[in-house]
Amino acid sequence: MMSIKEIHEEVKKCMYCGFCEFPCPTFNALRSRAYGPRGRINLIKALIENGFGQGKDVGLNSDVINPIMTCLHCAACDTQCPAGIRIADVIHGFKAIILETILK
Ligand code: SF4
Ligand code: SF4
Repeated sequence: MMSIKEIHEEVKKCMYCGFCEFPCPTFNALRSRAYGPRGRINLIKALIENGFGQGKDVGLNSDVINPIMTCLHCAACDTQCPAGIRIADVIHGFKAIILETILK
């Protein structure tokens, strides 16, 4: 499983170009940035930089959980990312950390 530190190193590489959004099935179905890879990666980045996973209660709610948990881990986005971010694995790893936090 990826650590918070490893996930942060990956999401910090995002240039916000949006190339990853075009092949994403959930983005195309819902037409909402939060439900695409760029939105998910930057949501994860914001959560970590606000202290999530480092002892701070950043208030997990459906606005945070739903976009991340609905990723299908299909990795269609990975092939498009010029920064080489392992997008699907990052989101998958962060799902596990959310579940660990909720089930504690
Ligand atoms: S892995 Fe997740 S974010 Fe990437 S294309 Fe598939 S559903 Fe979208
Ligand atoms: S393709 Fe990569 S760098 Fe561009 S927005 Fe998506 S995750 Fe960020």
